[in-house]
Amino acid sequence: MFDHIAQPISYQHIELPSSVHLDIKRIDLIHPQISGNKFFKLKYNLLAAKQQGLSTILTFGGAYSNHIAATAYTAHLFGLHSIGIIRGEELANKPLNPTLEKAQILGMQLHFVSRNEYRLRNNENYLQQLHLQFPETFIIPEGGTNELAVQGCQEILSQRDLEQYDVICCAVGTGGTISGLIERSAPHQKVLGFSALKGDFLQQEIQQWTKKQNWSLTDAYCCGGYAKTSPELFAFIESFEAKYAVPLEPIYTGKMMFGLFDLIKNHYFPEGTRILAIHSGGLQADIRNKSHQ
Ligand SMILES: *Cc1c(COP(=O)(O)O)cnc(C)c1O
Repeated sequence: MFDHIAQPISYQHIELPSSVHLDIKRIDLIHPQISGNKFFKLKYNLLAAKQQGLSTILTFGGAYSNHIAATAYTAHLFGLHSIGIIRGEELANKPLNPTLEKAQILGMQLHFVSRNEYRLRNNENYLQQLHLQFPETFIIPEGGTNELAVQGCQEILSQRDLEQYDVICCAVGTGGTISGLIERSAPHQKVLGFSALKGDFLQQEIQQWTKKQNWSLTDAYCCGGYAKTSPELFAFIESFEAKYAVPLEPIYTGKMMFGLFDLIKNHYFPEGTRILAIHSGGLQADIRNKSHQ
């Protein structure tokens, strides 16, 4: 079932003019479409759906969502049907973008809904209604974060990672990935999250999934909000890609690496700190070549 997933996961050392040691864990390379962390988030959800005898996965996302892309591919791999509730009813009459087109080719049924309806995506009554409309479905929330996702994300870290590094860094969207990393981390380690969006609410989201305290979160590098960017961010990504030949995108991994390099430059980490940055993927929908909605 997991034959399509590249193993073992590779590491890339990043040479720095600094006394800290930085490696990147390239979970982006496990699959070109099931980008990195989304595979780990989905794995136990899809296994649970199968165990419960449900034939269809239903989930939510925007038109460029990495989670929608990953769900379509992973469901297909697992022999399950998938339904995507997509934000924006106006999209129903337009040609599909590459993310949605690929999802549809893999068998995902796309349902475009208004922004008002989409806002109900976590509402119990609305979910009940979806269950009636689409029987036999296993519903996964937007972004894929739930208890099974947090369980799956623990597997991003190997025993070696617990022994070899002092700090684990990752990009944060809904907080599921970092929660899994925190749960798995060793007591001497610190998990550092770079938020892709603005605000403190994510702290509480993460506390919902883990009681451990060896972590912190910053939104200082989110460029003002989700999918917002800055010329400095783009310049950083370009020079990083040129120097290290590691592709980044500007929504998640670009902001993480931008932030991490800034902290290193400002001597945030003690000399000799061994850092592992998780490359969570996200390259299927690089927004840099698209006009922004
Ligand atoms: C979804 C995503 C994240 C955020 O993961 P969460 O579990 O929602 O915090 C990080 N990086 C990439 C590339 C993603 O697609």
